[in-house]
Amino acid sequence: MRKAYELRRSSKVSGVGMRPRIVIVGAGFGGIAAARALKRAEADILLIDRTNHHLFQPLLYQVATAALSPADIATATRVLLRGQHNATVIMAEVVGVDTTDKALNLADGRSITFDYLVLATGAAYSFFGHDEWAEHSQVLKSLDDALDIRERLLSAFERAEQCDDRDEVKRLLTFVVVGGGPTGVELAGTIAELARTTLARDFRHIDPRSARIILCEAGQQVLGAFPKDLPAYASKALASLGVDVRLGQAVSLVDADGIVLAGERIDAEMILWCAGTQARPAARWLGAGSARNGAVKVLPDCSVPDHPDIFAIGDVASFDPGTGKPLPGLAPVAKQQGRYVGKLLADRIAGRTSPQPFEYHDLGTMAVIGRSRAIADFRSFQLKGLLAWVTWSMVHLMLLVDFRSRLLVYVNWSWAWFTYGRGARLLTGQSNTARSRRRTI
Ligand SMILES: Cc1cc2nc3c(=O)[nH]c(=O)nc-3n(C[C@H](O)[C@H](O)[C@H](O)COP(=O)(O)OP(=O)(O)OC[C@H]3O[C@@H](n4cnc5c(N)ncnc54)[C@H](O)[C@@H]3O)c2cc1C
Repeated sequence: MRKAYELRRSSKVSGVGMRPRIVIVGAGFGGIAAARALKRAEADILLIDRTNHHLFQPLLYQVATAALSPADIATATRVLLRGQHNATVIMAEVVGVDTTDKALNLADGRSITFDYLVLATGAAYSFFGHDEWAEHSQVLKSLDDALDIRERLLSAFERAEQCDDRDEVKRLLTFVVVGGGPTGVELAGTIAELARTTLARDFRHIDPRSARIILCEAGQQVLGAFPKDLPAYASKALASLGVDVRLGQAVSLVDADGIVLAGERIDAEMILWCAGTQARPAARWLGAGSARNGAVKVLPDCSVPDHPDIFAIGDVASFDPGTGKPLPGLAPVAKQQGRYVGKLLADRIAGRTSPQPFEYHDLGTMAVIGRSRAIADFRSFQLKGLLAWVTWSMVHLMLLVDFRSRLLVYVNWSWAWFTYGRGARLLTGQSNTARSRRRTI
């Protein structure tokens, strides 16, 4: 039988009754923003996440390619909410929602009641109906994933150094990146640079510069969401780093030895899957309508149809701003929706009128290609090259959540930039545990 679980609630408010409990699931960009926006609300906030940290996903690829360490881009969630006395943080995995009794079901069998619920559980990768490919691919979504990639990447060069079989050396030094979006481009460019510069001087029997980094994209250009000549610039920049960019070529098979790409068999040590995303299963939990990627279709105030006390924000939500095209899965969307729903709930609890429907303020998008080039689209103007890279690095430094992370990242970047060094190259075997813990959805 399911065990009831009641976290202690705060004392009654002026004799009227219990303070309402707002449960937020997910301590990503959306969940943290919502919790912070509720700082002064007369409510008990319970933030639940299956990890104990808030992760800055845009810099994950730098952990995967040994430029940064995990602690540079993640902060313990409790530290972020340390000063917020109406908020409690617990580490637990949610597996379902009972909308009738307004309770969450946890993986360990407990249930937690709520008055208001904010679902901010994000998205995972999708394999376009080929879930069997997941077993042979690396994805990049969590710190465990990044450590897995780093371990396999660096180990491949170590193994190749001691291998006498030329075909096997070629296979060990072949890395295929699937998907020419920002994550694929960032990974491919950085792996190429790692091989061509940082590692180039450190081996005696192999030439790390001979590593093949293949970036395949089924569409006709990489970074296809960017306007004008930016995608073409990105393709050229990747080629100059030594990345083999294959456009208009779809993967038809992924197995333990490599891939089949447009009919060509490519043996590879690692397949980095950066193609489609799929929302985590909140729509299924709620029995709510969902978009093609499984995201919960929400109303203009981010609430779930027929459930005015339940909200979905960020990557797990599909929000149509009136254009028929849902907002993209980006950190600023999740943050702005989190702030909006937090304010809406604070107003509702205080008896104030609710704000206007959610409106997204698009500040532009950027993607980085290696250590000194990027592209940026600020809608009214575009940047590319070094200036875009400087802008990208300043923006990302400022967005890192705490001052300590900013300082560490700044020091590590500067070191890597001037020395072509990589501060986080140690192999520790951490990924073995990571692999057994990995979840896909
Ligand atoms: C590699 C990578 C690079 C990216 N680069 C950029 C970029 O440069 N710019 C940009 O704007 N966006 C980028 N994004 C997208 C951006 O990170 C997401 O849009 C953003 O994180 C969405 O925020 P969120 O709060 O919806 O979800 P997330 O930030 O993903 O947070 C979801 C949280 O929910 C928790 N969770 C999930 N399921 C459960 C469960 N069942 N129970 C309990 N907890 C659960 C997770 O542990 C996680 O902490 C990138 C994403 C990736 C993966």
